[in-house]
Amino acid sequence: LNFQPTKFITSAADIRQLPDDSGVEIAFAGRSNAGKSSALNTITRQKALARTSKTPGRTQLINVFEVLPGKRLIDLPGYGYAKVPIAIKEKWQQALSEYLQKRRSLKGLVLLMDIRHPYRDVDQELLHWATESEIPVLVLLTKADKLKPGARKSTLLQAREAAMVFGGDITIEMFSSLNRLGLPAVEAKLSDWLNQ
Ligand code: GDP
Repeated sequence: LNFQPTKFITSAADIRQLPDDSGVEIAFAGRSNAGKSSALNTITRQKALARTSKTPGRTQLINVFEVLPGKRLIDLPGYGYAKVPIAIKEKWQQALSEYLQKRRSLKGLVLLMDIRHPYRDVDQELLHWATESEIPVLVLLTKADKLKPGARKSTLLQAREAAMVFGGDITIEMFSSLNRLGLPAVEAKLSDWLNQ
């Protein structure tokens, strides 16, 4: 699948405002600053499809992109930003778990975690919800260029080992938007999911 023609379709304030639950889609999630926008731009070969370095804690929207008609990428708001009030965090977590449980067009979740601090609390919760809902997950250990090859490799192996406790279909790869490390593996997995 060629991701370059991907276009922005719409923003939604919450899950209920998403486009019709038909066709196929892949959701992207991660803590604020994990490198999600950069990854989306790298995958689609676009400079500013997803906006990087937005002010965290602002009202965040779900952004919907279309690779082809009926094949969507869903950019979920970054989570884990300390200054967001607990009540809003809880509401969002509720909405997210509901989305993973009920969205029939959702064929896969890409979870982005900074390779230097993987498996933070909300990341783990998300992995639980996704595997419980039988949604396959691609975990990307982002900013892999920040580690030397040896450290990178051992972090990858540890992360794969740690994923076992969740059961389910979890694939873990390294990724870097800076040097495109891991890009072919991501493209292969996304194509697989979107061609169902
Ligand atoms: P988001 O909040 O998850 O969308 O994260 P962004 O894509 O905006 O990236 C957050 C910060 O990390 C920015 O300063 C990026 O330049 C930086 N960043 C993102 N991806 C990479 C990467 O692969 N390598 C390096 N070294 N920095 C990255």
